Amino acid sequence: MQFKDIVGQPDVKQRLTKAYKEKRIPHAIIFTGPAGTGKLAMAIAFAQMVCCQNPTQNDSCGTCPSCKKYAKIIHPDLHFAFPVNESKKESADDKVSKSSGDHLSKWRECLLENPYFTEAEWYESIGLDNKQGIISVSESSEVIKKISLKSFESEYKTMIIWLPERMNVNASNRLLKLIEEPPLNTLFILVSEDPNLVIKTILSRCQLIRFAPLTRESVSSALIERYQLSPAKAQEYSRVANGNYAIAQNLAKGDNDSIYFLMFRDIMRLCFQRDVPGALEWVEKAAALNRERQKELLTEALRLTRESMVLNSKMDDIAYLAGEELQFGERFAPQMPPDRAMQVYPLLNSAINDIARNGNGQIIFTDTVLKLLKVMFPIKTLP
Ligand SMILES: [Zn+2]
Repeated sequence: MQFKDIVGQPDVKQRLTKAYKEKRIPHAIIFTGPAGTGKLAMAIAFAQMVCCQNPTQNDSCGTCPSCKKYAKIIHPDLHFAFPVNESKKESADDKVSKSSGDHLSKWRECLLENPYFTEAEWYESIGLDNKQGIISVSESSEVIKKISLKSFESEYKTMIIWLPERMNVNASNRLLKLIEEPPLNTLFILVSEDPNLVIKTILSRCQLIRFAPLTRESVSSALIERYQLSPAKAQEYSRVANGNYAIAQNLAKGDNDSIYFLMFRDIMRLCFQRDVPGALEWVEKAAALNRERQKELLTEALRLTRESMVLNSKMDDIAYLAGEELQFGERFAPQMPPDRAMQVYPLLNSAINDIARNGNGQIIFTDTVLKLLKVMFPIKTLP
């Protein structure tokens, strides 16, 4: 992974290369910012530059032996820790102490295919059905072991911890001293989407680098270059993606009639028609998704509610729908005046919170849909 492979973020790239050139590489950095902004890819690219044998002014060379190993994510001085958990399919024997090491080949595969993958996509790829991954105490011990080794080939060894917010207090405390006083030539890069959940003592020992949502220009030029889209299409998608390259990629790959959109459209129709049996069947489908997917579905429902309300208010210049979603939005907008959106929003938000707190999906979706049925009772049109 090189800086040139990463979409946008010129300020972050400049800051990192400057630190490297001035030999002021912090021993611990935390990258924070919204999903789809390239934090994990940037962590790998920076580590690659630090280990590169022949770096240019603003990137690694891409051709030295170290870079070649980085390109395949097999450099012996590049280490990772990320959330995992045992999957349902495994026997009781396999369930003991899963760690990142057990999933390393899948991790490489995912990174090489698309370094912008989401947390939900990661859990799906390792078969976690309805579980959230964690970074356990035993994982922390693994990290300590790896970092205490002498580096194999480079001057520097790097440990990238993806989603440190998934570490519990014990795991965090175990790492604290190491992050505070790491062995010489060690680089810790934490990649977080929710730094509020990372314990403060760890945060305070890391240099913080914030990633802003990507600009529309950087997203649309990446789509033109990498997906051969027309400039008009690329601009439309970058507007909808709203700074998230993972969404932009899915749009470019033709995933824009996503399952979430179709599910939102279905439930709104069912509620509107007061089709209670149909709505309860829909609940079964939603409850069958894993927890991360349930949260994504509800978050998408929030977005589509917001967009429909914006269209209802005739504020098309701040509406971010495209393609099939836009066609639906335009037809549906009359049913989503602001006062109705004001009732739908808290319903969806409280469902997201309940699911995040490990509530039962079937009960939460039933409750939400029953309330939606009431709220979505057809607006009487005047004769
Ligand atoms: Zn190189």
